[in-house]
Amino acid sequence: MTRLSKSFFFTLREAPAEAVAASHQLLLRAGYIRSLAGTAGLYAYGPLMQRVLQKVSKIVREEMNATGAQEALFAQLQPSEIWKESGRWTVYTQDGTMFTLKDGQGENAREYGLGPTHEEAVCDYVRSNLKSYKQMPFHLYQLQTKFRNEKRPRFGLMRGREFIMKDGYSFHATPESLNETYQDMYQAYTNMFTRCGLNFRPVEADSGAIGGSGSHEFMALCEIGEDTILYCDEAKYAANVEKALSIPPEPEAIAAGEYAVKPTPGIRTVEEQAKVLGVPISRIVKNIIYVALFAEEAKNYPVLVSIRGDRQVNETKLKNHLDCLDLRMATESELDGWLGLRPGFVGPNAKIPKVRYLADKTVATLTNFSTGCNQNDVQCVSANWGNNDLQLPETIDLDTAQAGDHCHLAPEAQLHSAKGVELGHIFKLGAKYSKPMGVMFAPESGELQPALMGCYGVGVSRLPAALVEQSHDKDGIIWPAAIAPYQVVLVPTTTDANEAAEKLYNELLSIGIEVILDDRDERAGVKFKDADLIGIPLRVTLGRDLAAGLVEVKVRKNGSVVKLPLAEVVVYLSNWLSAELGIAVA
Ligand code: ATP
Ligand code: MG
Repeated sequence: MTRLSKSFFFTLREAPAEAVAASHQLLLRAGYIRSLAGTAGLYAYGPLMQRVLQKVSKIVREEMNATGAQEALFAQLQPSEIWKESGRWTVYTQDGTMFTLKDGQGENAREYGLGPTHEEAVCDYVRSNLKSYKQMPFHLYQLQTKFRNEKRPRFGLMRGREFIMKDGYSFHATPESLNETYQDMYQAYTNMFTRCGLNFRPVEADSGAIGGSGSHEFMALCEIGEDTILYCDEAKYAANVEKALSIPPEPEAIAAGEYAVKPTPGIRTVEEQAKVLGVPISRIVKNIIYVALFAEEAKNYPVLVSIRGDRQVNETKLKNHLDCLDLRMATESELDGWLGLRPGFVGPNAKIPKVRYLADKTVATLTNFSTGCNQNDVQCVSANWGNNDLQLPETIDLDTAQAGDHCHLAPEAQLHSAKGVELGHIFKLGAKYSKPMGVMFAPESGELQPALMGCYGVGVSRLPAALVEQSHDKDGIIWPAAIAPYQVVLVPTTTDANEAAEKLYNELLSIGIEVILDDRDERAGVKFKDADLIGIPLRVTLGRDLAAGLVEVKVRKNGSVVKLPLAEVVVYLSNWLSAELGIAVA
């Protein structure tokens, strides 16, 4: 599709109502994507979008291949057995992430899932052929459509239910070898996202119950991002809020007083409690009851978390500590059944069957605090751990770091926050999958061991959406030359210019410049609007100035315009593109 008159090309004046994010609106308006039968999270990628995706894929492949990774392709339709081996079938089907299907009816039908990720499939491929440490390390990757029944498909390609991912899996005999590949991938991802023109930041990420420093996310910085990043430039620290550490502010000073139980009828929140009792919120211990959820329901148990009134529980940290599948808040009727209490009146040591007690670090050293007394409509003041039957529970870090907190690495500096969209994620898995799935090898000496694994994902179809979110103006998309669907658009604005445009078009094609000829029978204004909307880096206008031998070149990203002799335009375009791409063009 390079002659618009012979292409299926359309743009919309208005963004469809379904679109909220700027990138979603523009990709729809400019005709890059269309939702399938109005279904959230399912899209057709039109010819322009497909070219963008091919360019992103090429950059991803080049950077992956440069690290020595090998491209492969694994089945998308995955038998349930391998997911049962790893223990993830229940997790993925219970929360509904996996689309499941059967290959027939009746008892003998086999059950499958459409691949949301491929650890199991790759482990199955590797295990039957891995024998010795000498075969490692190696790294297999693929570019493929993934399926996830996302609860909230949003913002167009940002969160689809069918989307394209690059996923890679590396196998190692030693932790040192895994670290080396992890570092290589960190660099490869940095290169990829830089080449694609993104404004991004690598951040420390949650690595689940495995813990450790084994995971980074690469975040595109933009307002609509669903992830919160906390960072401190002084200490070069950046982390996803799910994982971030910080030094919370000191609690407000308060004079020591006599322990007393006071009436607080009907209060529900710490704000109300602070007001009624005249105490600072940072001198309140709030007590929240969760239920830890496991694959077997019988294993579920309540957890009572005590944390300072002005701080929020970080549920990711809590989940990791408990190593459970998920968490939920206890319901009011559960609370009533266990303790006969209404929310707000629970004390730190409330006697609940099977309960586990945890306290956040912010309450461990807190003195003269107010908290619940396990009795409706009263709270105590001037309480201290160790007195009045108040036992300090097991203390860990369960706090949600926030902007304004001090950095734990540079205590004089404060943390700042930003919103991000996750472009990629690198992860040291260790033996998490290789052990249950029996991916074993013979080391240089000693017994068979499970291989150590790393996994590395990039949202190939999310990436251009994040780019558009960062790079657009009121007129449309502004693609960087590296991933623009075409580099140049030629716009003849008079009938007399058609011949010159045709000639220039053929000349540019012959030297490998990616060019669209807008030879539609449309007004110049319509063609200009469309060229801006679809975001082509360079526009060449051939019109009345041709009589004087001149054409006009407009640069999309800064709006600058130059008039040039027609004979010089090819050299001008190829020089501009070479400088932009950092490689010789034509
Ligand atoms: P998120 O937290 O955004 O749901 P994730 O942590 O579940 O992502 P991974 O399993 O790490 O995602 O997948 C690797 C990459 O695939 C992500 O970094 C992201 O760029 C992309 N990705 C994940 N889910 C989607 C989706 N629903 N639509 C588009 N891209 C996605
Ligand atoms: Mg992730």
